[in-house]
Amino acid sequence: DNRNEEKDFRKDFPIFQQEKELIYLDNAATSQRPACVLEAERNFYENTNANPLRGLYELGLEATDAYENARKCVQGFLHAGKAEEIIFTRNTTEALNLVAYSYGLNRLGPGDEILVSIMEHHSNLLPWQMVSRRTGAELKFLECGQDGELTEEQIRKAFTSRTRLTAVTQVSNVFGRENPIKEIVRIAHEHGAVVVADAAQSAPHIPINVQELDVDFLAFSGHKLMAPMGIGVLYGKEELLQDMPPFLTGGEMIERVGRYDAVYAPLPHRFEAGTVNAAGAAALGAAIGYLEGIGWKTLQEREDRLTALALEQMEQIPGIRVLGSRDAGEHCGILTFTVEDVHPHDVASILDADHIAVRAGHHCAQPLMEYLKVPSMVRASISFYNTEEEIRAFTESLSQVRRKMGYGE
Ligand code: PMP
Repeated sequence: DNRNEEKDFRKDFPIFQQEKELIYLDNAATSQRPACVLEAERNFYENTNANPLRGLYELGLEATDAYENARKCVQGFLHAGKAEEIIFTRNTTEALNLVAYSYGLNRLGPGDEILVSIMEHHSNLLPWQMVSRRTGAELKFLECGQDGELTEEQIRKAFTSRTRLTAVTQVSNVFGRENPIKEIVRIAHEHGAVVVADAAQSAPHIPINVQELDVDFLAFSGHKLMAPMGIGVLYGKEELLQDMPPFLTGGEMIERVGRYDAVYAPLPHRFEAGTVNAAGAAALGAAIGYLEGIGWKTLQEREDRLTALALEQMEQIPGIRVLGSRDAGEHCGILTFTVEDVHPHDVASILDADHIAVRAGHHCAQPLMEYLKVPSMVRASISFYNTEEEIRAFTESLSQVRRKMGYGE
């Protein structure tokens, strides 16, 4: 609504009161956290702290409630059918490894194929390299256009009768473009393959409905979604999780233990060995509540407007090449670019002198960089709490980079 449209969201984030000059455009690496999230984490330790899922005394039960309520919150956020399908992990990387170790190693073998897209973050590539090495399944690549587009034709061509699993990011951390997960799932299922979606970059920007996507597994990190570091999520279809052996074993994930064997706990606790990050989970619940309070419409309108402004101004600066679509709506706030003749690290340092935080490097996607034939790039990533003034300061600073490095206009 209008109140949200005009609101200065920076006020919700304590870091911006401390770091008054900071222009934070590295939101794709990790977001900032609003006061309500920090309070939720503190509230757990101040008022509810006990080891959840263990204590039979009142405080222990309250701690368990806080943790399990957070799970319900994530269930609602992803529109999952059951709370048991939500597994808390440390982050996206751990969630993807859980699927690789628990599903991949046990279900795949020689003659099978694993299909990953060329744009995967190392977190959604290295686990499948490991599965391929250990099972003998062949690792194959789904290639995209130079602008990051995956067409239905390319997708269909990449699948074979041997494809058993495909791991694809919903939004690339380099292109920012949303991949057609629903179509990929449909094609994968026609071939009898399961789909593992990496939602690390999509969860903060687009509504996700795992039932509508019909996706088999989906992972995201709390820290990119305004929650603390160290809490992440794996969604898995119940019938798949049910048949998977545990990834990690130990306390909290058992029903009964004998000297030589054990009966594991039912879902979801079978996949949550050891003391859990209950405060992190509660804070993730608060982050989801905060986002839902703003609403996707407001959030996306603001991000698209700021991205369009940045794109339009960047296009006018000589020597700048922005990767991906010309359409701001296809970036999820991510603008990856190069400045002619200037090393990305120098670009980042020059911007940093103006208190502008951007990322430079290979963005944990080295095979993609090689495919695009660029050694490294700069990435500015925008969130709804950025402002027009910040975008203008960024493009103004960017327009000075080549001159500061000794090149003409
Ligand atoms: N996948 C993508 C697309 C990402 O952008 C990131 C974070 N850079 C990850 C996975 C890994 O997330 P985390 O480090 O939180 O596990």
